[in-house]
Amino acid sequence: MGPREVLFYCLSFLICHVVFDVASNEREVFCCKKYDGCSSAVEHLPVEKRVGGSTPLSRPRDLKKEYIANMNNKSLKLAIQKGGRLTDDTLDFLRKSGLEFESYTQKLFASCRNFPLEIVYVRDDDIPDYVASGSVDIGILGQNLLYEERPANVKKLLNLRYGFCALTLAVPKESGVQAIADLSGKTIATTYPNSTKNFFKKNGISVETIKINGSVEIAPTLGVAQAIADLTSTGSTLTLNDLRPLTKIYDSEAVLIANDKTSSVESKRVLLEKLMIRFKGVLSAQNYKYVMMNAPAEILPKLKKITPGLKAPTISPLAKEGWLSVQTVIKEDTFWETIEKLKSVGASGIIVLPIEKMIL
Ligand code: AMP
Repeated sequence: MGPREVLFYCLSFLICHVVFDVASNEREVFCCKKYDGCSSAVEHLPVEKRVGGSTPLSRPRDLKKEYIANMNNKSLKLAIQKGGRLTDDTLDFLRKSGLEFESYTQKLFASCRNFPLEIVYVRDDDIPDYVASGSVDIGILGQNLLYEERPANVKKLLNLRYGFCALTLAVPKESGVQAIADLSGKTIATTYPNSTKNFFKKNGISVETIKINGSVEIAPTLGVAQAIADLTSTGSTLTLNDLRPLTKIYDSEAVLIANDKTSSVESKRVLLEKLMIRFKGVLSAQNYKYVMMNAPAEILPKLKKITPGLKAPTISPLAKEGWLSVQTVIKEDTFWETIEKLKSVGASGIIVLPIEKMIL
């Protein structure tokens, strides 16, 4: 391709994808999301602005809301991401919590067979709105969307320990920018303009933002921005696109959120409490390992100090004079240090087992 074709390509890209948002003076680029496996037209509609004005009821998204509103009102309604990065881990988490339901493929919703819960599959960036409006009672989404949209009437209930990522500010490798102050007056491309603006505002630096809904990392190459703020987990996408991380704006993980009013309806409060016991049981189990070991009786005081367990370790005599079998739980984040200490004081035959559920 010669320079004219490159120029033509870039201009076509910009004309086709850049929409000027006059009110906010922010430009929005709508690209299909990389991991959006949605099949219906409903799923590919860009997010509507939610300030002022009403949208005609004939819009597919409103039909979806109406449909959700007509669902069994005695059940809790949970919105989760359909066909995205969080979907598999979310389904896995719900199943580990003992919930039985149909797979989401080609479905708008699923009813749990063994718990009064309706699962609604939607775009993740619609979840704050669905929960805030009370269309659903609870939702699972990336904390990044909470920071970005700051939905009213919504509270975070639990961190779910998956979907880890960070909103990272990055610049082209060869860029002279070394510190965030060097970006003063420059344009930052991002899917998260509010988070980005807040970050720079807090640091007293004035920047422009351009909102891009996909492939943010190519914005500097296209000359649309001098830096980007994008979600990263390994950082490999930045490296592949010759970008250098400058700083982290925030860390994020999947979280459970609820509408404030959910707990004010007694039947829903009870259901939510029951669901939370299941969720916390799975999370606690992930945090601990069950450990069995043999130990000479005289090291017991030392073992108790190293691994006190939940209350105290379980001790039973071995069929060998002066020896004990000790059973306890060890926290995942200090697991190897604890095992090393146990070995160094004389524990042997250490067996480690995963815990499926743990109700504290
Ligand atoms: P997506 O399916 O790409 O729309 O991503 C959905 C959510 O996955 C995001 O809102 C984040 O909370 C989370 N996530 C985890 N790791 C990443 C990552 N490397 N890039 C983008 N999103 C991520």
